[in-house]
Amino acid sequence: MSEIKERIDRILERIESLRPQHDCRLMAVSKGQSWERIQAAMDAGVSLFGENRVQECGQKWLVRPHQVELRMIGRLQRNKVKSAIQVFSGIDTIDRETLADTLDRQLADQFSVMIEVNAGEENTKTGMLPAVVREFLETAERWPRLRFDGILAMLPEARDLSLAETKRIRRLMQETAELWRICKSEGWPWAPLDELSMGMTSDFEWALEAGATIVRIGQGIFGPRQ
Ligand SMILES: *Cc1c(COP(=O)(O)O)cnc(C)c1O
Repeated sequence: MSEIKERIDRILERIESLRPQHDCRLMAVSKGQSWERIQAAMDAGVSLFGENRVQECGQKWLVRPHQVELRMIGRLQRNKVKSAIQVFSGIDTIDRETLADTLDRQLADQFSVMIEVNAGEENTKTGMLPAVVREFLETAERWPRLRFDGILAMLPEARDLSLAETKRIRRLMQETAELWRICKSEGWPWAPLDELSMGMTSDFEWALEAGATIVRIGQGIFGPRQ
């Protein structure tokens, strides 16, 4: 367990050195991890967690310390929405109108969500295409209980670390950050868009350079998933 703290400390140092203005947070992605390991991450000071399955998460996170924020980062089926709003403090994977409709209908109060963007326009990934994000947000006032707090970017995995591949992914990150800034600057009251959640274990340093405000790290903290 002490290696979890060491890894977290090392990642926080990298964040600090690339973003000394303290405007980026670390999300520990704890899918597939035991409660003991999650607790080790909390003890090391992590207060933001991400999970991708409603059921697994409900069983593991029976109690969530009040200072801990737990957000959904996996594809959400409409029949799981009801349980999801009980378990999570936010849902970062709004990628279609029907999901926003269902979610808004089930909620009693304001709830934090993010738009999931398929930055590389890959068939194998979920998320909205970048080209439709702005229009979606512009008309998002129709879901009065959803507060759009940010954009979660899904990026292609680098197939290799060639210069061309590296450049392509970094360019997609820059474009996504630009899209986020443009939408944020609209100042829509229902979409403050303070967060850009981008970057995982293999590419978080590039995401930090592009402007991410949340990096989502799983294996880099916990080691390989069980
Ligand atoms: C699993 C996952 C991560 C973390 O990936 P690692 O490579 O383990 O850092 C980040 N974001 C999403 C959406 C994920 O599903």
